[in-house]
Amino acid sequence: MRISFIGLGAMGYPMARHLSKAYEVVVWNRTPEKAARHAREHGTRHVHDLVQCADAEVIITMLPTSREVDEIVEQLVSSVKEGTLWIDATSGDPNVSRETAKRLAEHGVAFVDAPVTGAVVGAENATLTIMMGGDTADVDRAKEVLKSCGKTLIHVGPTGAGHAIKVLTNTIMGATVWITSECLLVAKRFGIDMKTALEVTNAGSGRSNASENLLPMRLRDHQWPLVFKLLHHDKDIRIASQLAHQQHAATPMLALTQHLFSAALNELGPEADYIEVAKIVAKMNDSSWD
Ligand code: NDP
Repeated sequence: MRISFIGLGAMGYPMARHLSKAYEVVVWNRTPEKAARHAREHGTRHVHDLVQCADAEVIITMLPTSREVDEIVEQLVSSVKEGTLWIDATSGDPNVSRETAKRLAEHGVAFVDAPVTGAVVGAENATLTIMMGGDTADVDRAKEVLKSCGKTLIHVGPTGAGHAIKVLTNTIMGATVWITSECLLVAKRFGIDMKTALEVTNAGSGRSNASENLLPMRLRDHQWPLVFKLLHHDKDIRIASQLAHQQHAATPMLALTQHLFSAALNELGPEADYIEVAKIVAKMNDSSWD
């Protein structure tokens, strides 16, 4: 079976590598040098012309947002074969993906939204959690393909459901990172050392992925690696906020989280890591984590 993989970024590059062990994989990337390198390193086939990606049983997109996915769909839609399955692994917008699915369906192409969680390390180790939206038969086809990239594959609901739950869980994480940073900063200003504050937090009911895995390296050890762009995280929270708005839902915490992350993005810039929001928490208090 031939798979066309579009978007060899931090996540897509290792995902396409795993797929190439089981399938014939064609790769296309906006910056072609990355696709050429992928072909050299992993035996995939690099194509310069995007339209060549249409000749495949499965097309996978792993791009920043639904906007870029739409641009690719626009360029391929008249060339894709009937019966093709389009898997969008981007953390996209469920409203847009429903429109994309309808558009592709007019050409006999099935669509499954299949965003992932587990960070770059999960993509590298094929341990991602993949949440999928679409018809059962299409999702079953997608699962068969994506099982080489992930450990937990979950059919969440109809088209768009994967994208919806992805942005909502990332919003939970964002709010948790922010409030945990605020409380740890207060502890620090009270004179409690960071090692002890984290130890107690992680032994008690304030424990979370943020306090156990994300914050100690930054707040205690002063290492701030770029793991996931704040730009992408802000995008996810804004989509979650739009979903709430659309449903007339009363979600003040979600709205506040969205405003805080957008303010942090404006302050830190598009290349910042998402956990650097903790620096904004410190700055708002004329403090630092040093
Ligand atoms: P990157 O920024 O590393 O890669 C983005 C990819 O999209 C690159 O291949 C880039 O090409 C391509 N691209 C960007 N703009 C365009 C365009 N206009 N047309 C065509 N291709 C384009 O992103 P990630 O891999 O980190 O993230 C991809 C998706 O996965 C996002 O939706 C993100 O939210 C989600 N995600 C990311 C995680 C992470 O930890 N990084 C974890 C879970 C989900 P080029 O090489 O030319 O720049």
